[in-house]
Amino acid sequence: MSRTDSPKPEEVLQGAAAAPGVAIGPAVCLRGHGVEVLRVPIQTSDLDREGERFRAAVGAVEAELEATENRIAETFGSDLASIFHAHSVILRDSSFARRIDQMIRSDRVNAEWAVQAVADDLGEKFAQVKSQHLRERGEDLRDVTRYLLRALAGKRSSPGIGKDFDRSVVVVSHELTPDEVLRLGRRGAVGFAIEVGGANSHTAIVSRALDVPLITGIADITNRVADDDPVIVDGEDGRLTLHPTPETLDQYRNLQRRRRQSEEALSSAARDLPARTVDGAEVELLANVELPEELDDVRRFGASGIGLYRSEFLVLDRSPELPSEEDHVAVVRQLLEALAPQPVVVRTLDLGGGKVARGLVPQDEENPVLGQRGIRFTLARADIFRTQLRALFRAAPLGNLRILAPMVTAVEEIRALRRLCDEVCAELEAEGAAYRRDVQLGAMVEVPAAVLIARQLAEEVDFLSIGTNDLIQYTLAVDRTNEHVADLYQPLHPAVLSMIQLVVEAGRRQQVPVALCGEVAASLECVPLLLGLGLRELSMSPRGIPRVKEVVRSLDICDAEELARRCVAASTAEEVEELLGAAGATVAHHRVPVRAG
Ligand code: PEP
Ligand code: MG
Repeated sequence: MSRTDSPKPEEVLQGAAAAPGVAIGPAVCLRGHGVEVLRVPIQTSDLDREGERFRAAVGAVEAELEATENRIAETFGSDLASIFHAHSVILRDSSFARRIDQMIRSDRVNAEWAVQAVADDLGEKFAQVKSQHLRERGEDLRDVTRYLLRALAGKRSSPGIGKDFDRSVVVVSHELTPDEVLRLGRRGAVGFAIEVGGANSHTAIVSRALDVPLITGIADITNRVADDDPVIVDGEDGRLTLHPTPETLDQYRNLQRRRRQSEEALSSAARDLPARTVDGAEVELLANVELPEELDDVRRFGASGIGLYRSEFLVLDRSPELPSEEDHVAVVRQLLEALAPQPVVVRTLDLGGGKVARGLVPQDEENPVLGQRGIRFTLARADIFRTQLRALFRAAPLGNLRILAPMVTAVEEIRALRRLCDEVCAELEAEGAAYRRDVQLGAMVEVPAAVLIARQLAEEVDFLSIGTNDLIQYTLAVDRTNEHVADLYQPLHPAVLSMIQLVVEAGRRQQVPVALCGEVAASLECVPLLLGLGLRELSMSPRGIPRVKEVVRSLDICDAEELARRCVAASTAEEVEELLGAAGATVAHHRVPVRAG
């Protein structure tokens, strides 16, 4: 990584820690949606050929869009297909293509540059118009631009990033969506540094799942870091070191080694120990997983099952095509068979909000996080929901399956889900298919409405699971992905603690188990408080389990209850934090910040 010409001075850029770990490597900057756009001068004699290249790319994208449109129309109907049709319309718009063609000739530039320049110009105009309809066309234009750039690069123009890496790189970008992180991580990216987003976003959650360090909130990073610049991502402290000196590199390599060793030591020491407090209270420590490849971690870090499988990642992974019933069965079977008789809680598709599978959920929502998300989406798209439910009941005989509904705000939603389950099971019965009906059904408690009707919900379900990531967002009216209000996203806010307390009490009265599966479950500072509030089931990223187990094993429930009483009576998050500190609860500093920002 060292350069022979005069070395550039080391520079440290500060952002927010979002996924722990250290990554060292050359940077790859994603601009133009993952396709590098360079201005290449074209000789006059080659201009015709460049124009041809552009038209060939248009032809390739057109053919692909048409095929996708037909496939989607056949399977899901014309509404969904119309998205791809809108893309085709832009592509066929002769003035768009003509402007690009003209620019190639007048400026003697490569097709990629002309495509990006024309699209940027039009994009600015679209952004300024008042009409929502036209603004959406701006989004379509961006997609078409991306398809064209990818076709020019000789790649299939599927949505998402398809860049392959031949070495371990750190990806630097303005932003990354959860599915982009997924794809890039699987293609060998070892670290991420982005300008926007918070530590509680799904982008961060996927990054942690892949064990790829991520820093968010580094202003203007795409202009400060160039391709191949040597960088170090410190996902523990949210620091990006640009052009590190040999000493800094050594320091970080040592840190990487120590981290691996201590993780291995801790996981093998803790794996077989019970998660039991000093005074004998048993606690279930389960794993949150997004991808089946995390199964190894689930076992390695000693989880007692899966407390949350975010099934929507299967959809994001395959978007714009939907997973088939067989795809769902295959993944759930893998989880169940690997862990039986331990429980596997499969959350039904939580699409919408931040997890937009383009073409599936409505694109015209002003406030998608308050829109058709979670159970609202699946009930509105019963065709998609049935496919998943059929798969779940078919896979159920293979292990200990539980089904969890996300974003529940009303009892009617649970009743509608139960009706669908009945219908699907009747169908399977009539077909003579192997299935199992007696699967436990649960509701996620992620919005204040669900907290306030926790008693009524508990009467309808077999278990509740508190999703604090969203509960904090909706209780405090703080967007969990917005770095500008990250300091207001306070897991220890007294309102949040009261919410948790209300749910635990409702569950206790109705004798319905209550789990907690938000990121706070892995916050070592919060664990004594959560146990003190009465929780006995915590689900978290598998890597967090050994340290949480260590805390659990050092606790006395009476002390934890006393601590919780005092915390609930506090007036501010800061007071709660002080109480936790004073109680000596901070065994070590887990990466999930108690107060983000
Ligand atoms: C939550 O909201 O706490 C949760 C576990 O779900 P997600 O993070 O996927 O929204
Ligand atoms: Mg949630």
